[in-house]
Amino acid sequence: DRLVAADVRDGEQRVDHAIRPRHLADYIGQPRVREQLEIFIHAARAREESLDHTLVFGPPGLGKTTLANIIATEMGAGLTSTSGPVLERAGDLAAMLTNLKAGDVLFIDEIHRLSPVVEEILYPAMEDFQLDIVIGEGPAARSIKLDLPPFTLVGATTRAGRLTSPLRDRFGIVQRLEFYAIDELTEIVSRSARLLGVGTEEGGAHEIARRSRGTPRIANRLLRRVRDFAEVRAEGRITAQVADEALNMLHVDHHGLDHMDRRLLLAMLEKFDGGPVGVDSLSAAIGEERDTIEDVIEPYLIQQGLMMRTARGRVVTRQAWHHFGIAPDDRAVD
Ligand code: ADP
Repeated sequence: DRLVAADVRDGEQRVDHAIRPRHLADYIGQPRVREQLEIFIHAARAREESLDHTLVFGPPGLGKTTLANIIATEMGAGLTSTSGPVLERAGDLAAMLTNLKAGDVLFIDEIHRLSPVVEEILYPAMEDFQLDIVIGEGPAARSIKLDLPPFTLVGATTRAGRLTSPLRDRFGIVQRLEFYAIDELTEIVSRSARLLGVGTEEGGAHEIARRSRGTPRIANRLLRRVRDFAEVRAEGRITAQVADEALNMLHVDHHGLDHMDRRLLLAMLEKFDGGPVGVDSLSAAIGEERDTIEDVIEPYLIQQGLMMRTARGRVVTRQAWHHFGIAPDDRAVD
């Protein structure tokens, strides 16, 4: 239950609906992605064709689902959404495909988690707009082929490396989302604040932005919590000082680190002299599962240059010593 977790929390979908950008022009940041998609969408529309199948990858909360919605809107097309783990049987996907109308967008989130039987159905559907499916079992089984309307598959994944190559090769457009810069997140926070009707000064938006781990979903979530604080303690206005006080109270520090991050780094610094230390020893020291450390806590700390994975184990960098105001050990890594 982390305030700075990048994945969706229960109940967030509803608020999200109010602030999610609907057009490419409202999609802040990611200039390279925006520019390319603008061209591809424009060209496809001019030719009255569906857009090529598009794969979007990047860490959670950076705007993959938002982009799928925008593609459908900009193409003037309908959108059907599902996700890899939800499509259990070949029939689940077949039902969705046969319900599509010409030009529609089919969005599959977590596409790296499709089961192999479902993925098999997808190949001819993507390539030739054909549904190739076996019905019945044993001697009574027969295979049927159906023509599908042309459609655009938008696949999203946090791990491009986990996609099988036949699937990856069938996407004509591949876009990678990057963590957002602080000025881009400041713009996102200001926009969301406007839509939510919260008075926010530039300095307040900036303070929230720099503590949001490069991630719009976290920025929007912190904004909502800071808004609560501002309404109760500061007449509803988010200034830099109000944002700072609210986020301190919520234990989100200036780097966007929370108690879990700090506990991991402090254990490395204080119990293991900054490392190298094996992940299992760390796991025992802080009482967190190894998977939680590897998948949830470490990636942001590594991306921020606070720690590194080496062949001999985890080590903290000089920056981590500084972060906690501890004199760097002689062996600290830059
Ligand atoms: P993902 O699918 O990558 O996990 P989402 O598309 O659900 O992420 O985005 C998470 C939140 O961040 C949404 O509330 C969305 O409104 C906001 N968001 C994402 N990207 C942008 C952007 N480029 N500009 C403005 N808001 C964004």
